Formats: sequence, C-alpha cells, structure tokens
Amino acid sequence: MDSAKNDMRQFSGVAASPGIAVGILRVIDRRRLSLEEYNIDQANVGAETDRLKSAIARTRVELETLKEQLQETVGNEHLFFIDTHLMILADERLVSESSTFIETGLINAEGALQRSLHRYRELFAGIDDAYLRERISDVETVIEKILCNMSGTSHAPISPVSGQTVVAAHDITPTDILQMDRGRVIGLITEIGGRTTHASILARAFEIPLVVGAEGITDLLLEGAPVILDGIGGCLIVNPDPGTFVDYIQRKRHYEYIESELLKVAVLPSRTLDGHHIQLRGNVEVPEEGASVLRHGGEGVGLYRTEMLFMNRSEMPDEEEQFRVYSAMQSAVAPHPITIRTLDAGGDKLLDGCVHLAEQNPALGMRAIRLALSKPDEFKKQLRAILRVSAAGKVRIMFPMISGLDELRQARLLLEQSKAELDAEGIAYDRDMAVGIMIEIPSAVVIADLLAKEADFFSVGTNDLIQYSLAIDRSNEHLAGMYQPLHPAVLRSLRRVVETAHAAGIAACICGEMAGDPLYLPVLLGLGFDELSMGATSIPRVKKLLRRCTREQAVEISESCFNYSTATEVDLYLKSAITRHFAESFD
Ligand code: PEP
Ligand code: MG
Repeated sequence: MDSAKNDMRQFSGVAASPGIAVGILRVIDRRRLSLEEYNIDQANVGAETDRLKSAIARTRVELETLKEQLQETVGNEHLFFIDTHLMILADERLVSESSTFIETGLINAEGALQRSLHRYRELFAGIDDAYLRERISDVETVIEKILCNMSGTSHAPISPVSGQTVVAAHDITPTDILQMDRGRVIGLITEIGGRTTHASILARAFEIPLVVGAEGITDLLLEGAPVILDGIGGCLIVNPDPGTFVDYIQRKRHYEYIESELLKVAVLPSRTLDGHHIQLRGNVEVPEEGASVLRHGGEGVGLYRTEMLFMNRSEMPDEEEQFRVYSAMQSAVAPHPITIRTLDAGGDKLLDGCVHLAEQNPALGMRAIRLALSKPDEFKKQLRAILRVSAAGKVRIMFPMISGLDELRQARLLLEQSKAELDAEGIAYDRDMAVGIMIEIPSAVVIADLLAKEADFFSVGTNDLIQYSLAIDRSNEHLAGMYQPLHPAVLRSLRRVVETAHAAGIAACICGEMAGDPLYLPVLLGLGFDELSMGATSIPRVKKLLRRCTREQAVEISESCFNYSTATEVDLYLKSAITRHFAESFD
C-alpha cells in the first residue's frame, strides 16, 4: 500500500473527488470515543444540551428495540440487564446534573457526561453492599452507549490546523463536510467509503479533492506532515521530495487550466451534433450551489437533496424555514426549473432531530419515503413549503425510494391534503406542479408500467439502483470493483425504465452519479433519456461530449452494449467505441 523513498511515502486509495491539494495533514479518528472535554460559548449551551438529550433519546430507542428483539428470541426473564440500563437512562439526575455541568462549566456534553460519571462513581463507592457497589459497571456501560451515540451522528466539527489542511479520517459524514471550514480544509482522505456515498457527492459539489479507501491511514503517526493529496490519481504523498513537489504543482496548474477551459463549453447549448436538445441539469444540496449550476452550464436543478437542511441540528426545520431555503434555491437558478426531492434521510444520512432506530441494515431500513410517511405531520410541512415555492417559479416535486404504488399513493394523498389546506388558507401554488418519482429500487423497475400511470416523470437514481440491483453496498470500499454501472442487469433496467416512461408519455430523467460520467453519455443518450442531472462540475465535460455526438451514433453504441454478457465486456467495448469516435473529447 505504501512505498518509502527517503522520507517520502505514498498511500493509495480510490479517487472520489478530483483536484490536487497541497497542505498539512490533520489526522482524526472518531472510532475512538471522544472523551475530550473542551469549553463552549454561552451561545452553544442550548445546542450542547440538546445534543446530550438526543443522544440519551437515541440510546433509549436502541435499548427498547434490542429488548423487543430479544423478547422474541430469549424471553423476558433474561432481559433484566436492559431494564437496569433503561432505569439508569431514565434517572432524572443524569440529565439534570450533566446539563448543569454544561451550563455552569461551559463545557461540551461529553465532558459533562464524564463529570456525571465521576459523581456516580463517588456515590457507588460509598455503598456497603458489594453487589450493589459493583452495579457502577452498568452506569459506565450506559454512559458509554450515550457517548457512542454522540460521536456517531453529531460530533464537533472537523477543525483545520492553521493554514491549508488535508484531513485524514477513518470516515467522514455529509455533516462533516457541511460543517467544516471549507476555506481551510482543502482535501480529505478516508479509510472507508465509496465514490457514490453522500460525503463523496458533497465533496465533489464543493470541489474538495477526496480519496477514499486508504486503509490504515489514521493509524500512522503522520499528524502535521506536509502532504499532497491527489484526488485524480487517488493517492496521498507524505513528505514529498522537491522533484515530486514541483511535478504536482505543475499537475495542479494543468488541472485548473483544463477546468477553466471547460467552462467555455458551459455557455454553449446542450445539443447533439445533429441538433437534439438534451436537458443537462445540476444536482444540489444547498442553495449556494445554484450559482455553480448556472456557471457550469446547467439548465436548472434535476435533483435537490433537501435532507441536508435537516442534518446537523436538533430540531427539524419548520415550514417557514423550509420555504425560505427552497425559495433561495429557486431564485438562484430562475428562470430554470428546480426538482425538489422530498426528505431522503436514513441510511448514511442520520438526523439529530429525529430519533432513528438502531438498525442492522440501515440501507434497507427506515429511510427516505418510508421515514417521511411514518411522520405525516412533519412530511406535510415539507410538502406545503414546496407547494408554496411553486407559486414563484417552475418547481417539480420528486419522491425518493418508491418501491411500490402504495407509497406513491400515500405520498400523493398527503400532497393533496396539503393543497387543500393551502386552498383553505388562500395560499397560492402551482396546480400543475409535476410529481415525479425516483426509480432506485429494483421493484420500481419491474412495475415501472404501473408507476408510470400515476407519476408525471421518472428520475433514475443509479447510485441506489446499482446498490440494490447488485447487492453491493455503495459505501463499501472493498466492493468498489463490483459496483458496476455497466452490468447487463443495470443496463436492462435503464432500458426498461426509458421505454416504459416513453410508452406512458412521461419524461425519463437520470440523476445518479452515472449521468455525470462522460463515459456513459453515449449509452444514456442512445437509450433515450430526456434529461441528465449531475454534480455541477461534471456538466461541462458531459456537454462537451454531447455536442460532438449524434443521436444515431449514441443509439448504435448503446444497442451494441446489449451484445455483451458481462460488465467487463461492455466496459471494454464502450471504451474502445469511445476512443474510436471521440478520443479528443476526453481530457
Ligand atoms: C441515487 O440514488 O442515485 C440518487 C441520486 O440519490 P442519492 O444519491 O441521494 O441516494
Ligand atoms: Mg438514492
């Protein structure tokens, strides 16, 4: 994995967000429980107390769920230890004392919990009965669980060292990227993760180079070392020698030059050589990205991941706040349309303000539309906010992870109820707002004909569709090679979705990461997709190739892909076809 040359060392991983960063390394390992006590500002007392309370609430749900599961398998009589832990959790003193430490000591929740533990230890030490005295171990276990819950989903932001920082971590979450000082953290490298995790998607959106899958990087004592992070080649060079340093500075300049040249394509129409207009749109997470979509030549937003607004906070945003933020996004890209996807939380996007179940398989768990439908009142706040924004400009709504008609009908029913409420209140909205669904679960592909009768458009989420079709966790770096967009099963699914959508007279869009890779453009174009939505920075590259391609060529290429039986064969064919036809379009 690494090679030593004098002092210089190189570590390889998978390139997940392009660019080259030169800076100082900061190593963060969150797997070790954060026991650090640090001071907080008076203004953060409320947030820190909320963090404590929601970690306690999550721990309670975890224990209750565990108890339910065990009741079925081992029976009640063996579950006294869980009841003991639940009793400790319910002890008012734990919350009140820890909250007091936060308030009066102006310290973080982890520090406060540890001070409380210290008090419990003193108390238990004074108990005569040896058995009872030893029950301090239960208190310790419970407090450890709470600390785990704290570090798992909400932790102190990644702080840079002084100067330009490249952060090495076991893993990073989307929240980390949203929270960190993006002016100073200029590169990221992690031990786990994949190209299509939400953290990787966000890194690309914010143009922060990222390498994932660099095993063991946090175990080495590299803190403070000068480094070069290569998000194109997928490696980290520690202590670069002068020759390597100069070489990388040149590569960095070259990369930045190519990127700025590509922006010249951004202003040109997204039309094939034979004049077919294909919508190229941007995938966005926060309103600041709207300007980037336009700058990179996107005609509006094909996927607005609203869940980012719900992350990293203790309360869910209310209708007014959502309305304000969605309006900001809408006006950032006006007069182009925006496609707002309703909350897709769960999986790798946990919300602090919402108690998630402790799940064995979060990717198959309570996420996306399932979570939204389980909280109809919260969901309606979002639906109302989206409807209200539709009065000001072209807005489409899209439901994530639809697996069957029941979910679509329930979601549409709540949408109709929200419309009726707005009517009663005399609030305007677009009565013809298109209602689409994401096709990202294999069952949705199979019943696409049924879904097409009740949806106004389809948008294929290939990130999840590939994950669920091939049973390959999109965030597992060990399986990265098996995550195959060109797998014949995936290609057949894409073909079925487009054909079914068109037979029903609705648009077939695609918004997974596959849409942003020029390699796949001829295939997607040839299959007949009407709209491709991708991270803003991918738009110019895709547009450049689109403008050099005829539809006839694309159809020929995509049809030929179906002559092959494995992803490897299709990949070989596609690369040779692309080299033959358009080598000069790839930089
Ligand atoms: C997808 O699954 O392809 C998609 C676009 O949604 P997300 O990446 O947010 O799950
Ligand atoms: Mg998805």
